Amino acid sequence: MTNLSTLMYEKYFSPTSVAAAVKLKTQFKDKALLVAGGTASVQLVSKGFIEPEAIISLDRLPLNYVRKKGKGFEIGATTTAAALVMEKGLPDCLIQAAQGIHGLALKETATVGGNIFTPAPGGDMAVALLSLGAELVLRGKNGTRTVPLSKFYRGPLKFNIRNDEILTAVVVRNPPRFSAFVKHTPWRYTGPSLASVSVAMDADEVVQRINVAVGGLTPHPYLATKVEKSLKGQKLTTEAIDRSASLLTDEVEISETGFASKQYLRHLVQVLYKRILNSYLEKHRGG
Ligand SMILES: Cc1cc2nc3c(=O)[nH]c(=O)nc-3n(C[C@H](O)[C@H](O)[C@H](O)COP(=O)(O)OP(=O)(O)OC[C@H]3O[C@@H](n4cnc5c(N)ncnc54)[C@H](O)[C@@H]3O)c2cc1C
Repeated sequence: MTNLSTLMYEKYFSPTSVAAAVKLKTQFKDKALLVAGGTASVQLVSKGFIEPEAIISLDRLPLNYVRKKGKGFEIGATTTAAALVMEKGLPDCLIQAAQGIHGLALKETATVGGNIFTPAPGGDMAVALLSLGAELVLRGKNGTRTVPLSKFYRGPLKFNIRNDEILTAVVVRNPPRFSAFVKHTPWRYTGPSLASVSVAMDADEVVQRINVAVGGLTPHPYLATKVEKSLKGQKLTTEAIDRSASLLTDEVEISETGFASKQYLRHLVQVLYKRILNSYLEKHRGG
């Protein structure tokens, strides 16, 4: 596991309770760096992008769990991608996102909590969780509050989290019956996503509810709400899928990545989105 204590930090803490971690975060505020798996944060330090006064490791907090919660489930913030892959009964999109994270070593260390804060091209699990209507549980000096993931992102590396708060869990209250996540990576095997799409849906004769989350095109994932509106209450057909695909990037300014042009990324998410819904249609046709 990550151990920055041996590097250069006099102020290195490894609390064993959430209360102790919140107390430290309250003391150091923005001058403290929280480190979960460390796969993204350690790079920020080693490349000199940030110079924290204190490191607070989350490694020993009792937040590595998956629990049933009513019709849904709760995931502790330090649960790793590898642990999710081993879980039974979680929505397909979340397992697929966890499975697709680059390499075995990274899966073993990358946490769900850390993934939510990691900008594109990271953040695969965040894309899946966004489509599932996840809520974040934040604990600070004044207690606990819950924020929908859809309201958590406020801009590049800007989040709806206070100085004294720590993300402790992610809750999905009512997962839809169908979900799927696909990503495209230009790297061999698995790697950070150039673009990803996650669809979570309940559909019988018509689409009852559908959430479509897109990753990789903007600094943080977003919900394609125009697509959702265009399909809700409609029969799912190839034509309806094609029509709605053209709305996927309507509400965002695509960031050019250096790996792909805006035009290519716009086309790519449409391909990924259609792949999910057309294969759903194929499976459920006549059934
Ligand atoms: C080679 C490489 C390949 C990668 N491939 C992928 C990939 O395929 N898919 C993908 O999604 N990502 C990928 N990533 C990005 C990254 O590894 C993941 O997003 C990972 O899930 C981050 O989790 P972590 O636990 O390591 O976060 P950390 O690095 O520990 O933290 C990331 C950020 O989140 C904050 N943070 C972490 N936990 C909390 C918390 N509980 N409360 C408040 N703040 C918190 C930290 O302070 C930090 O700012 C890759 C990274 C590398 C280096």
